Amino acid sequence: MGKSLAENILKTLEESGYEAYFVGGCVRDWLLNRPVHDIDICTNAHPGDVMRLFPQHVPTGLKHGTVSVKEGGSLFEVTTYRTEGEYEDFRRPKEVNFVSELQLDLERRDFTMNAMAMDRYGVLVDPFHGLSDLKNGLIRAVGHPEQRFREDALRILRAVRFAAQLNFRIEEKTLAAMKGTAELLQHIAIERIREELQKMLESPAPAVGTALIVETAALQAWPRLQTLFAKAKGQSDRLAALPNLPHKWALLMYAAGFLYEEARQACLELKLSKRDKELICALVQTLADIHPKWDVPQNIDWQSHLLERGWQFCTELNALLQACWKNKPDRDIANALMQIYEQMPVKSVQELALNGHDLYTQLSKKPGQWVHDLLQHLWEQTAFYQLPNTPEALLEEARKEVARHEH
Ligand code: ATP
Ligand code: MG
Repeated sequence: MGKSLAENILKTLEESGYEAYFVGGCVRDWLLNRPVHDIDICTNAHPGDVMRLFPQHVPTGLKHGTVSVKEGGSLFEVTTYRTEGEYEDFRRPKEVNFVSELQLDLERRDFTMNAMAMDRYGVLVDPFHGLSDLKNGLIRAVGHPEQRFREDALRILRAVRFAAQLNFRIEEKTLAAMKGTAELLQHIAIERIREELQKMLESPAPAVGTALIVETAALQAWPRLQTLFAKAKGQSDRLAALPNLPHKWALLMYAAGFLYEEARQACLELKLSKRDKELICALVQTLADIHPKWDVPQNIDWQSHLLERGWQFCTELNALLQACWKNKPDRDIANALMQIYEQMPVKSVQELALNGHDLYTQLSKKPGQWVHDLLQHLWEQTAFYQLPNTPEALLEEARKEVARHEH
């Protein structure tokens, strides 16, 4: 992806007398034959030189030496070799200094597998033996591990998520240093922590990451989240079967025995969006209601779920149940649900032959919550109780329902 375009950038830099290399994640992923999503370039040219050489650029991070160069419609980050000054607060270097040697730039990087550079002919620059660690499936800090985690504690969680993404082990001294410095994660913003946790949950081997969180007590500053991973550890291999993050969080929380309120607190701590929070809590609660043990639920009342929360929610719940039942594939819930759904003559309030406006004009009443409730009632009647979906039948039922409520 985009490699030949990026090669043009290296070529232009070289022909202007500078050094230029591919660096970091893209080199690692090429060597592993994994898909590469962003190509980073490093160079001894200063940002001003880069901007001059490539008129099509966006100055995305000049302070850190980064200019995004546009080539063939794609953007590539070109960053000047740099070291990072003293670390202020376990996360942010006070300053960055531009340097003229590639080696110094590689030294500031977190793990040996991320500290390799490659020129445009494919020649590797690998001063910390990252290739050998890659071959052995090992994550190893560059330099003194404890010092590196003290500089930037987020690296602890980066190691955890790389272990899960690549199914790698963590080298012994690196792992010991992670345990020794895990408390420093308290200084890192939860949004950044959540980001790494989510990459871990979306990885092919989430159970590897979960086990490492437990082993290193990485989330000790957030006891509820640490407990979540500790309690859900045994079920975390089920995560990979789920399509998206809210499901994954819901499964973890359910597996940890969280109910609605605890799930809500966990979502608040993670600063998840309101929408995700609401979906997760509803899933956790429903799962706990119908599925109290890790066992096949016998009678799921899909009808009431469909009415209460709609088709979308049912399919979300269905995906979760499928994952929970990984070991018992004999029950085909998806089909059962699909059948109920297909048989519903009216699949949503929007398909009714009447809308809210029709209701309050025909019944000569002021609009209000009652319109919503009444539409829901009409939908239920048409979907499951054979009320014909015609304006006349709906209006008659609506009149009866209003009368029932007024008595
Ligand atoms: P991903 O596949 O998630 O993009 P990546 O290795 O490319 O993985 P990025 O966050 O994109 O990760 O960072 C690019 C490179 O910058 C890394 O490969 C690493 O060399 C360096 N890097 C990123 N974050 C840190 C950090 N916290 N400490 C040291 N080096 C880092
Ligand atoms: Mg990257």
